[in-house]
Amino acid sequence: MKIGVLALQGDFAEHITTLKRLGVETAEVRLPGHLDDLDGLILPGGESTTIGKLAVAFGLMEPLRDFGKNKAIWGTCAGAIFLSRDAKRDQPLLSLMDISVERNAFGRQVDSFEVELDIPELKAATKTDAPYHAVFIRAPLIETVFGEAKPLSQLPDGRIVAARQGKLLATSFHPELTDDSRFHQYFVSIVSS
Ligand code: GLN
Repeated sequence: MKIGVLALQGDFAEHITTLKRLGVETAEVRLPGHLDDLDGLILPGGESTTIGKLAVAFGLMEPLRDFGKNKAIWGTCAGAIFLSRDAKRDQPLLSLMDISVERNAFGRQVDSFEVELDIPELKAATKTDAPYHAVFIRAPLIETVFGEAKPLSQLPDGRIVAARQGKLLATSFHPELTDDSRFHQYFVSIVSS
């Protein structure tokens, strides 16, 4: 199995480190040809407008959309925004996943925070029971989940912070910034399903 990480901008190196820790072969994706032999792809956190503009400039938009039609893609934070159908701003989006997002939804005062989440599907996939410690950095909220997409995790007040649609996964938070590899393990299980 080989999983690529879109390496145009943002924290792609941290995703690669975590995948390697799990023994997964990795590749940095910067050009359409880099997608050819991949089984799955991660879109990292960073700045979604910048990632989108660079993806347009490198001719990656259609190749990424084609990839997402039958292969697994996981977007974290800015990557989740890039995967979505609607971010309520004029910026390039892959529009692959039936979610709408609100960028920087948590405001300036509390724009970064950490919280323990209960994620039943993650626990089942990794056969573990501990809550998941999630790191949010100027995070988007998954405002609506429609069509084929389903919520995967919610904050105690009900706001959605992770969703799945078949082989597509979106998280508002950053599993690549903690030592807990369970979310990457979960994605690996989606890639191989
Ligand atoms: N605020 C960023 C955006 O809207 C996302 C932040 C992140 O990826 N940590 O693109």
